[in-house]
Amino acid sequence: MRLIFLGPPGAGKGTQAQRIADALNIVQLSTGEMLRTAVAEGTEVGKKAKPIMERGDLVPDDIVVGIIDERFGAPDCANGFILDGFPRNTAQAEALDKVLAARDLQLDHVVELKVDDEALVERITGRFTCENCGEGYHDKFKRPVKPGICDRCGHRKFSRRADDNEQTVRSRLEVYHRETAPLLAYYSAQSKLKSVDGMADMDDVTAQIKAILGAP
Ligand code: ADP
Ligand code: ADP
Ligand code: ZN
Repeated sequence: MRLIFLGPPGAGKGTQAQRIADALNIVQLSTGEMLRTAVAEGTEVGKKAKPIMERGDLVPDDIVVGIIDERFGAPDCANGFILDGFPRNTAQAEALDKVLAARDLQLDHVVELKVDDEALVERITGRFTCENCGEGYHDKFKRPVKPGICDRCGHRKFSRRADDNEQTVRSRLEVYHRETAPLLAYYSAQSKLKSVDGMADMDDVTAQIKAILGAP
């Protein structure tokens, strides 16, 4: 199964991609995560991306398309993948179509998570992640069961993203509406688009997505 999860920052793409990828035994490919790793490692790509990400703008298309194309060649992608945060504009979507065609692959579904802008700011400013396993949490909507200890791996260190502040969130939302939202029409025209109510609680959203995919 090859899927795209589409939606504004904070819509729940990462949360749902992790769950669905586990359930279907496919991989989650987050360009944001790959870029943050490059920034942390101080690679050439990371040095270029850092100030752009801090502003909430899009990193140049050739960089992200290159990262994704290279990643598709890895053996763990053979069973399928979920693209989380890519493509983010029409040029990237067109490049993705070409990259997939060159590998003789097709997308199965593009899943849109619909969430109101006001809810997104609250979701993003309350977001934190386990430093060890990457499990996502929220100050209000998903606290660790035992305070300060990761539910998934037992670690005690969590981190918050530099770009998860209210000011940057506002510009990321603008970028989403201007650059990424046009992809809804793009994939609708390919009859690939399926929408879910991302305002529902996390388990409900997972169930909606599984129903679309015909997954148990
Ligand atoms: P979120 O999950 O909040 O939507 P991401 O982790 O997907 O955020 O992305 C964080 C930042 O990384 C973006 O604001 C952007 O600067 C950069 N980025 C991630 N994916 C892409 C992409 N496909 N094209 C350009 N920039 C990207
Ligand atoms: P994205 O990858 O689209 O940027 P995330 O999956 O990281 O979004 O979710 C953003 C924040 O909102 C996280 O802190 C997450 O725990 C929380 N969250 C995700 N889905 C829901 C939901 N359905 N209801 C409430 N909070 C949610
Ligand atoms: Zn953990």
